[in-house]
Amino acid sequence: MNRHVQLDEKLNALRNADSFRKWYSLDDRRVCVLCDRLITGRMIDVWQDNRGGYHLHCPTPGCLATPRDWFYHGPVRARVPKVMTTPPLAVYAQATAHR
Ligand SMILES: [Zn+2]
Repeated sequence: MNRHVQLDEKLNALRNADSFRKWYSLDDRRVCVLCDRLITGRMIDVWQDNRGGYHLHCPTPGCLATPRDWFYHGPVRARVPKVMTTPPLAVYAQATAHR
């Protein structure tokens, strides 16, 4: 059975399920590129499945966005590290070169 995650657990769930971006608070804002709306962590619909995994849903009815579709809004955007543009293959080569 899936259960709805309550507000006090939400920040933890967001951090856990969103591997693309960092959450500092439930008031962090994101722009959903699918429905073109500004959302906050507080508004995101969070569910937990019976294996403990968290699932995040855009609060806009009918929007199928997942965390990868939510981009930083405002000054927080400056915190996105440039490393993200590195091709995954290069990162892998670096990681294995030291073994
Ligand atoms: Zn959306």
